[in-house]
Amino acid sequence: MPAKILDGAKIASDIRREVAAEVASMAAAGVRPGLAVILVGHNPASEIYVRGKVKACEEVGVYSEQHTPPETTTTAELLTLVEDLNRRDEIDGILVQLPLPPQVDSKKVLMAVDPAKDVDGFHPVNVGFLSTQRPGLVPCTPAGVIEVLNRSNISIAGQEAVVVGRSDIVGKPVAMLLLNANATVTVCHSKTRALPGVCHRADILVAAIGRAGMITSDFVKPGATVIDVGMNKVTDPEEFRRLFPSGSPANVAREATFQKKGSTLVGDVHPEVAEVAGALTPVPGGVGPLTVAMLMYNTAKAAKMRRGSGQWSVVGAQ
Ligand code: NAP
Repeated sequence: MPAKILDGAKIASDIRREVAAEVASMAAAGVRPGLAVILVGHNPASEIYVRGKVKACEEVGVYSEQHTPPETTTTAELLTLVEDLNRRDEIDGILVQLPLPPQVDSKKVLMAVDPAKDVDGFHPVNVGFLSTQRPGLVPCTPAGVIEVLNRSNISIAGQEAVVVGRSDIVGKPVAMLLLNANATVTVCHSKTRALPGVCHRADILVAAIGRAGMITSDFVKPGATVIDVGMNKVTDPEEFRRLFPSGSPANVAREATFQKKGSTLVGDVHPEVAEVAGALTPVPGGVGPLTVAMLMYNTAKAAKMRRGSGQWSVVGAQ
């Protein structure tokens, strides 16, 4: 039986609606959460991401402002900007869009963000809160993974979870969240031996690798839940054919888009996995939309935590 497709777009829209309701109730109490986004230079992908984030702010009622220093900006200039935003009371969240240009010390800039306004959850203080299960700000994509599982009624406690990828942004925080939710967690990476066999143990398999279609059906235990965090742009027709063989009715729409645009967005999980897994997040439309929804959630949460207006009530996972 083909896998149940987990509709991340629908879950993200539910979360955004819940956050909008929470923001409206904060507005009634005279508080409007505010997000400042720092976008350096003109990276086209970053510009698209930032546009999506600003639009989401408008939709849920969060105030937003953009700061766009030139590509030639220095670490010192960015530190001054971050310190200014740290001081401003109406700004609850500060998001530094990555990557920063090579002359900038990215770690230093991220470290300068007030942990209470660190809506990306990358500051070591928030990393520490997560690993010691204290209230804090959790990275958006990993938090979105947990929301997909919880809201799809997929139990985590006691399950074997395997995370492929150990980045600070995705793999490690996903693993920590799964551990905090009482899964038995294995973290894999490029040096892991016999990777397919390790993955095959998983009841919940999370792929955060950055390699199109790497997780094939031999990695997946029949009936497992597979969460595909990967977002890879495929432009090579041969690779496209490997992932989406022609002749399959399921591939017709994607093939038409590929012919027209010359590219398609593909996850780390091979589409054939849908025949083996019990549940699967699609790409696009799976984990991707959750990232911005959880950013809105974090911004409102930061406003509540920082302004001392009680516990955040909407989403249960963190
Ligand atoms: P990253 O920093 O490049 O980390 C990739 C991880 O995969 C590393 O830990 C690496 O191992 C591991 N890896 C690479 N090749 C491997 C192999 N052959 N076998 C086993 N492990 C391997 O990437 P990231 O930032 O975590 O992102 C991962 C993917 O998620 C990317 O496709 C990215 O675009 C996507 N992403 C999506 C969202 C979203 O909103 N949906 C958000 C963030 C990222 P080593 O540590 O040993 O090098």
